[in-house]
Amino acid sequence: MSGQTKAAIKWAFSIPIVLCIAFLTSSSVRYFVRFLPVDKVPVVHEEMQNLDNSVDDTLEFGSRTDVQTSTSWKAPIIWDGMFDPDIYDQKHKRDRSSVALTVFAVGRYLDAYLETFLKSSEHHFMVGLPVTYYVFTDLPEKVPDIKLAPKRSLKVINVERHSRWQDISMMRMKTIADVIESEIRHNCTYVFCFDVDQVFTGRFGSEALGDSVALLHAHYYRLPKNMFTYDRNPKSKAYMQTGDFYYHAAVFGGSWQSVKLMTEACYQSIMEDKLNDVEALWHDESHLNKYLWLHKPSRLLSPEYCWDKNIGHRSDIHIARLLWAPKHYDTLRTA
Ligand code: UDP
Ligand code: MN
Repeated sequence: MSGQTKAAIKWAFSIPIVLCIAFLTSSSVRYFVRFLPVDKVPVVHEEMQNLDNSVDDTLEFGSRTDVQTSTSWKAPIIWDGMFDPDIYDQKHKRDRSSVALTVFAVGRYLDAYLETFLKSSEHHFMVGLPVTYYVFTDLPEKVPDIKLAPKRSLKVINVERHSRWQDISMMRMKTIADVIESEIRHNCTYVFCFDVDQVFTGRFGSEALGDSVALLHAHYYRLPKNMFTYDRNPKSKAYMQTGDFYYHAAVFGGSWQSVKLMTEACYQSIMEDKLNDVEALWHDESHLNKYLWLHKPSRLLSPEYCWDKNIGHRSDIHIARLLWAPKHYDTLRTA
């Protein structure tokens, strides 16, 4: 056989091999994985964002002409009517997604809000998916005994009660980061962090899951940027001149990896501020806004996911999925 013929045969054999390798490593494998029976689907955290993107192809960005449905960096902003809830539920059941919900009920906030929050969450939050509630409180014996649906559980974690309400709020960042490292990373794919002074009133489902998730603040989503109440003190680590949106710290989440990075970074900035004897205007929320300006979230939730009834009727709010509970700062807050 001549040298030329040998080279030609080598070529002929190597082309299918190269094609085969390309095929096996391409996104088409992920596509076919979707059709495996649930118990055959591997749980691979690193692949999550790609899988996430494929199902997001079903979002109908044009179905809501009255609002902004994606950001300049192409993250979807989830509004009612844009998504098919069943497609998201199927995807997350197939992927065996599980969700940790963190909530703090320290001091008088426990009696005032926790039971309503948890009961309503059982009706509306990630229904059908495994959920672990992490309730942080200084009064573990007072946590109400709520009947939970199958595959849902609740863990109570004792925390100290900081004397200032600002510290109760800010130090959540450190506690969440710690519990992600010690527990959540071994049990759950996603983490969602909530204020307790709220009530679920509609589906808050798997369409909200993504790598890093932030919520548009109900009071600011229609306002121009110059009205956003970012921290304007250059001495604070939360200082920012401008940003993308004003995010509400009452709800944020994402993969455990992203939420760990987010909460650790916010805690670091909060502690640096303490060393410099400054406190950001809206405490943990200011730091969260700064972090999300520097690290763009992959998914935004519309204010339908945390609405304040006091704003009154807005035609773009088709459904309130979570509502602010009445605030009673004078009687509930400590110092
Ligand atoms: N919190 C608490 N006890 C307090 C103060 C705050 O448990 O004494 C927790 C609780 O989860 C609350 C969150 O920290 O929802 C944030 O505080 P708050 O809701 O008062 O802040 P706001 O909604 O006014 O920004
Ligand atoms: Mn609150």
